Amino acid sequence: MNKIIDFRSDTVTLPTDQMLNAIKNADLGDDVFQEDPTINKLEKKAANLMGKESALLVPSGTMGNLISILVHCPRGTEIILGDKAHTFYYEAGGISAFGGIHSRQLKNQADGTLKVDDILSAIRKDNVHFPRTSAITLENTHNLCNGSPLSSNYCNTVAKIADDNNIKLHIDGARIFNASVALNENVKKLVENVNSLTFCLSKGLSAPVGSIICGEEKFIYECRRIRKALGGGMRQAGIIAAAGIVSLDTMIDQIKKDHSNAKKLAKGISDIDGLSIDLENINTNILYFDIHPQRRSDYLNKQTLKNCIYPSEIKLNNIHFFESYKNRFRLVTHSGINESDVEKLLLALKKIVK
Ligand SMILES: *Cc1c(COP(=O)(O)O)cnc(C)c1O
Repeated sequence: MNKIIDFRSDTVTLPTDQMLNAIKNADLGDDVFQEDPTINKLEKKAANLMGKESALLVPSGTMGNLISILVHCPRGTEIILGDKAHTFYYEAGGISAFGGIHSRQLKNQADGTLKVDDILSAIRKDNVHFPRTSAITLENTHNLCNGSPLSSNYCNTVAKIADDNNIKLHIDGARIFNASVALNENVKKLVENVNSLTFCLSKGLSAPVGSIICGEEKFIYECRRIRKALGGGMRQAGIIAAAGIVSLDTMIDQIKKDHSNAKKLAKGISDIDGLSIDLENINTNILYFDIHPQRRSDYLNKQTLKNCIYPSEIKLNNIHFFESYKNRFRLVTHSGINESDVEKLLLALKKIVK
């Protein structure tokens, strides 16, 4: 059988053999009692990597963002975020449903940033009519904005604004290591002045499950309580952490390959008549490209499945990817994709245009 070549997301990555061995041999304990040595080791390692006091393993990035924001933002306060932010767009409205937190959406620029002037004018004055602003979140890399990495320079600018206004800055760093690799900046630098961040072990880093929240010790203490309240306190979850440790130790080089595969793919797409792509904006493992509506082939229409998380899913035989908006497609490279898969996709894409 042909293997599925899955460009839908880096969430589809499978654990490496080294991870499976680590899982099998992990020392375990009850993590709600904070007695799982493997989790304790992973949390310490993650905190060190990020230059933060403390860290907490959570089941998913969504829960990591939710917990962080619940801790930072009292009920009825307002959080500033991008209109294309994962936290706003793809997290089932959790911050509003569970935290009573009001979201103030600012326009995301194509590079994933929020304009500094927009942030400054969105911060509320103290007035009885207004909710109080309690936090800002940024997303690095920015999923819906071409997988763009945000520089430490930009993050520091926003951190200064947050600090000056006595509000918190949270980074949704689901793919922060992709940003670090793309910018060739130490990941610590990217989060130096932020109050908290979450990152995913289960995307480019290829662990089967898990995300990490990092921040000050006091903050993580509160996060641990909320994690329990949400049902995210897991017992012998060292089996998850064992794979996460291998992720941090071994998978950064893979991210470099993912980025070079994405660049090859982008270059190949730019050579296909009828497709267009903004080559300048391909910096990490996520890329978007467009098909000219008049060039859409019947073959493509036949391979389009409706009713998935995006408007449609495309299956060109064993090659799968998403159509994110009508005539705009998303491709994600990851450890399950090699150079020959890139070549196969490029061949297949020639058939989607007429
Ligand atoms: C995937 C993702 C998340 C959420 O992670 P899950 O583990 O899927 O809940 C959060 N933010 C961004 C930018 C993501 O891409």
